[in-house]
Amino acid sequence: MTFPPQIAPAPIDPVKLDKLAVLAVNVGLQLQAGQDLIVTAPVMALPLVRRIVEHAYRAGAGLVTPLLSDEDVVLSRYRYAPDQSFDRAAGWLHEGMAKAFAANTARMAIVGDDPLLLSGQDSAKVARASKANSIAYQPALEKIADFEINWTILAYPGAAWASQVFPGDDEAIAVGKLAEAIFAASRVDQDDPVAAWRTHNAALRGRTEWLNARRFGALHFNGPGTDLTVGLADGHEWHGGASTAKNGVTCNPNIPTEEVFTTPHASRVEGHVVSSKPLSYQGTLIDGIAVRFEGGRIVEAKATRGEEVLLKVLDTDEGARRLGEVALVPYSSPISKSGLLFFNTLFDENAACHLALGQCYSKCFLDGATLTPEQVAARGGNKSLIHIDWMIGSNEIDVDGINADGNRTPVFRRGEWA
Ligand code: ZN
Ligand code: ZN
Repeated sequence: MTFPPQIAPAPIDPVKLDKLAVLAVNVGLQLQAGQDLIVTAPVMALPLVRRIVEHAYRAGAGLVTPLLSDEDVVLSRYRYAPDQSFDRAAGWLHEGMAKAFAANTARMAIVGDDPLLLSGQDSAKVARASKANSIAYQPALEKIADFEINWTILAYPGAAWASQVFPGDDEAIAVGKLAEAIFAASRVDQDDPVAAWRTHNAALRGRTEWLNARRFGALHFNGPGTDLTVGLADGHEWHGGASTAKNGVTCNPNIPTEEVFTTPHASRVEGHVVSSKPLSYQGTLIDGIAVRFEGGRIVEAKATRGEEVLLKVLDTDEGARRLGEVALVPYSSPISKSGLLFFNTLFDENAACHLALGQCYSKCFLDGATLTPEQVAARGGNKSLIHIDWMIGSNEIDVDGINADGNRTPVFRRGEWA
């Protein structure tokens, strides 16, 4: 005899999923009538992609082009592709994206893949493929990093990712829990998410205005294993929350976001620092990072896990050993308070103060929109093919702002705004 198929519990609340799509289109991108949109997403995020495409067209989108990826397809390459495949990337695709961005196409990225997807693969191949991809992606990344167009990143709860975050639960339960965590962090569990984001953006603006009025020359991070002075770039500017792109559209580039951030000086970072959370970088987990800086450059680097990949990443190019971002996030941020380790930078970077290796955001300068790459470099902005955020904050970290005359102002005490 045949049993009727079991009706699986719907793990993802469809109403909140639709609210997330509305938020992504109208707050994340503030998509303009007539504007085209490129959406990249894993195949498993199709339920969200469909909602987004609908709301994008309802907002007047000209043409929406989704580009889907798949975990199994990625693994097939590692299992069966010839060795020379790992030095290649779809340059034509990235050039096409750069061309689309130059024509004012907005960009949305949905993340949700297994954070450990490539952890069982040959790390040399992972590093080669990642480098080839970074090089090919450069023309498109430049337009994103320079905020030429409105862009946003948000998340969908993939099954493998959910099982990593909630290892004790059945897959369907884990997906449901991760969905709720994403909805809460993205503020779509509230009655009026758009209004909630307006309030949140205003609060972040209050922080950036305070920091921009202080014009600190450097920040000093002090805590267990950390004694680090991060010189800030000349004419740096703090940003956080909503951001106005060069095409005039105000977008929220990250959903969620809790950080305020600016550009460090590429040659004025001194001291040592340890990571406070593991970092999932292109399918590999890197944990227990400990590095020492001299003259802005990492001269010693260790990791308790994924060290091989970390060291290869640091050798990507000259700028990979220097900082491109410093960000402040209180320990009491809602994402930090959830107590979850997401193994995903979009979330984990919003639970702790962090640094990013590599490319800086030219936007994080006074008059950033008008600066040439040479002017950004002259003010201390770093240049690299990579941009990797890693977390250094905890409830034990103190941060001081240091003025040009050496005076110190408390900025963070025990992980909270002082
Ligand atoms: Zn950041
Ligand atoms: Zn970053």
